[in-house]
Amino acid sequence: MADPQGFMKHNRQDFKKRPVADRLSDWREVYLDLEPKVRDQQVRTQATRCMDCGIPFCHSGTAGCPLGNLIPEWNDLVRRGDWESASDRLHATNNFPEFTGRLCPAPCEAACVLAISTDAGGAVAIKRVEETIADVSWENGYVQPSQATVTSGKRVAVVGSGPAGLAAAQQLTRAGHEVVVYERDDRLGGLLRYGIPEFKMEKKVLDRRLSQLRKEGTKFVTGCEVGVDITVEQLRAQFDAVVLAVGALRGRDDVATPGRELTGVHLAMDHLVPANRACEGDGASSISAEGKHVIIIGGGDTGADCYGTATRQGALSVTQLDQYPQPPSVRDDERSPWPVWPWILRTYPAHEEAGERKFAVAVKRFVGDDEGHVRQIELQKVRVEKDASGRRSVVPLSDDVEVLPADMVLLAIGFEGVEHMRLLDDLGISLTQRGTISCGSDWQTTAPGVFVCGDAHRGASLVVWAIAEGRSVANSVDKFLTGSSNLPSPVIPNLLPLAVV
Ligand SMILES: Cc1cc2nc3c(=O)[nH]c(=O)nc-3n(C[C@H](O)[C@H](O)[C@H](O)COP(=O)(O)OP(=O)(O)OC[C@H]3O[C@@H](n4cnc5c(N)ncnc54)[C@H](O)[C@@H]3O)c2cc1C
Ligand code: SF4
Repeated sequence: MADPQGFMKHNRQDFKKRPVADRLSDWREVYLDLEPKVRDQQVRTQATRCMDCGIPFCHSGTAGCPLGNLIPEWNDLVRRGDWESASDRLHATNNFPEFTGRLCPAPCEAACVLAISTDAGGAVAIKRVEETIADVSWENGYVQPSQATVTSGKRVAVVGSGPAGLAAAQQLTRAGHEVVVYERDDRLGGLLRYGIPEFKMEKKVLDRRLSQLRKEGTKFVTGCEVGVDITVEQLRAQFDAVVLAVGALRGRDDVATPGRELTGVHLAMDHLVPANRACEGDGASSISAEGKHVIIIGGGDTGADCYGTATRQGALSVTQLDQYPQPPSVRDDERSPWPVWPWILRTYPAHEEAGERKFAVAVKRFVGDDEGHVRQIELQKVRVEKDASGRRSVVPLSDDVEVLPADMVLLAIGFEGVEHMRLLDDLGISLTQRGTISCGSDWQTTAPGVFVCGDAHRGASLVVWAIAEGRSVANSVDKFLTGSSNLPSPVIPNLLPLAVV
């Protein structure tokens, strides 16, 4: 039973960030490494605020946690200081809580009953409780390899080692199947490795979890593009089922804006991947913002990651552009009523470090120098309109242009779906209009015995959804191989999000 007065005694408290100067001098996580005793006490106090609501909107449904994390249960266990039981309950629904605790935008917090009114002090800082349970679990050895007690004699290939592939692999290995994860990159982790910067989640957090998966028996093959380095025929001959967790990594380009062809205009991932590689010790980044005026086009998460990366690389200036107007700082109940994901201004730690954001603007053209290198952008004030069929158009408000210096332009305007790859052609799988891989109610694609999960199924989304889909696909594959399954299945396929992607 929760403390019924906890939220009246304590306000929401998030973790403190390191001073900006320290953050910019390295790539380490933004939040302060608190002394464990201080951290644990702060989080216990925060967990005390949970009201254990009759209907806990935070923990499931269209608005809360896609994994069905048992939030009120582990809040109460943390409040009492029973970290080991909290760890059990957390890991019962989430394979990688240290990833979501650091990276999740926390739809659970938006759906917390304490978030309805600011008078209640704000939502419980759920993701910090989650992160701390996970960290305490590792520190105290509560996280151990969990070996299968029976073996099925069945073999499963998982293609892609992002959070969806890793969650599916861990579940299926624990169910007794022999699982091999194939990854075309030289290192494992998908976007956790080469997309998301260290300052959001240090790679040692990922490596620690990968070592657990290895000890449990999951096998990994890196540097192997399935469909090319191992053919579909070989895959079919060697495995009883295949899980496609290949992500949705086809970056959206901006071919329409004059000057796109100039040197110095890049897709966001062309910047983030080498920056992450540099942190792995692979040598200086091939596309660095050092000494440059940087323009980031696109107001979302990927843009914010480019922002923090460019600042750390020593950019002269960083400006992030968004076509949409600046959202309000508090929830607009008409547009996004509680408990749905609110349309509000999201300020990431990177935005507090340097630079500026501009809203309701669009680039008219990129202007180059005699060598064909971008040097300026021309910016117009715009309004985004939608016609009756939902088609979007960006309308300039006048002919006036603002000129900004620009030595490097990063296009962070989203992803168009799964990359075109030989694997899909040879499996006879075609992409949907959204560029994703479709499946039936059992996550099976049009190719028999081939399943899909994560961004490849959903389109570019979130780590929490990737893990939830990885867990669910494992349940279906287990059933396909053995006739039944005890594995949990937190989400159903083809369930598109209402607001949080
Ligand atoms: C810059 C950036 C920042 C983000 N930040 C956040 C965040 O803070 N919080 C959050 O919740 N979400 C964030 N996301 C989204 C999140 O990273 C993704 O939703 C999640 O990683 C999807 O997981 P996945 O396993 O489906 O695919 P991915 O992580 O994309 O992994 C797919 C893997 O498949 C491999 N692959 C593809 N084809 C083949 C093949 N034929 N053979 C072998 N391997 C193959 C790829 O190399 C890749 O490693 C971010 C995304 C980006 C781009
Ligand atoms: S995974 Fe995300 S939504 Fe679920 S409890 Fe953690 S922070 Fe909240």
